[in-house]
Amino acid sequence: MSETLNHIFGPVPSRRLGRSLGVDLVPFKTCSYDCIYCQLGHTTCRTIKRREWVLMDAVLDELKQKLNCRPDYITLSGSGEPTLHSRLGEIIEHIQAMTAVPVAVLTNGSMLWQKEVREEVALADVVLPSLDAPDAERFEFINRPHPDITFERLVEGLQAFRRQFTGKYWLEVMLLDGYTSLPPQVRQLADWTRRIRPDRVQLNTAVRPPAEDFAMAVPQARLNQIAGVFSPKAEVVAEYHQQGKRFTTDANQQSILELLRRRPCTEADVAAGLAMRPIETAKHLADLQAGGQVVSQKRGDQVYYHPTQPSASKPTRVGSCNVFERRGSIKIDLPRPRASALDPRKHRKNRGKAS
Ligand code: SF4
Repeated sequence: MSETLNHIFGPVPSRRLGRSLGVDLVPFKTCSYDCIYCQLGHTTCRTIKRREWVLMDAVLDELKQKLNCRPDYITLSGSGEPTLHSRLGEIIEHIQAMTAVPVAVLTNGSMLWQKEVREEVALADVVLPSLDAPDAERFEFINRPHPDITFERLVEGLQAFRRQFTGKYWLEVMLLDGYTSLPPQVRQLADWTRRIRPDRVQLNTAVRPPAEDFAMAVPQARLNQIAGVFSPKAEVVAEYHQQGKRFTTDANQQSILELLRRRPCTEADVAAGLAMRPIETAKHLADLQAGGQVVSQKRGDQVYYHPTQPSASKPTRVGSCNVFERRGSIKIDLPRPRASALDPRKHRKNRGKAS
């Protein structure tokens, strides 16, 4: 299966890492979580099994061919959770032997309670885990984790990793309007970040189309206000700006599709990430849309593009998982959290409130 996948994508316009060349270490939506805000849709393989999900040699061969695009970072991320790859440590070491470009790991942090995972992830130059919930109830509701991952395990793993990792440790807090944006939850999140002691705390929100419609973005003004509650003050992760750099690439419709398969993007994101002229980007997106390969979706005042879901897509059975090669066309029937105070209907009234 791995031979049919493309493992390298981008460079992606990353708000935190500049031009980030993505390395995908798992098949589409293989993850320990099924987050309600996930921009890739529903998780089709929710697992904590570590294995060589894609062949390490194939990944490294493909990466070698793409290194001339001068990325700011090589980022292990993509269509799911990269720490599920059993040869993660070896992959990081091979990349570092190949290039001086720093290696970043974008992880949900859920596997860091395991010593062997911490040791492998600690080989990276920058580690960017997430903490989206202030307590166990919200963790279950927002992240919909694999049953073996508890909130206690998550926060213990994040703290243990800090004790052993000497590189850059940037914690992302993804806030959702009405669920984690109110003062009590924000204060709890700020307490947790003080205990975890990352080098930076970066606030994000669900600006891109999410897996569930009720996962709403926190308004910008409220996000700026929340940043001041954290100590030291958190950074609001702004929309990507190209910082005046100019690049030329041989980006084409295939590279646009590879990028969109990992992340819904605006026209400006595509142009910035692939260093394409705006007019050329608009034309390619229009052609892809006319050909039925891409659809657009409005979220807030932005228009995002993502690939159409292939009707002929068939899952491949891997262990106990149905693994899809492309953006999932199925609805996976995962157990939902019990009805609780977090019922989306009850939370509509809390949206956009500061107190
Ligand atoms: S947002 Fe990240 S951690 Fe959550 S389901 Fe999507 S890929 Fe997994």
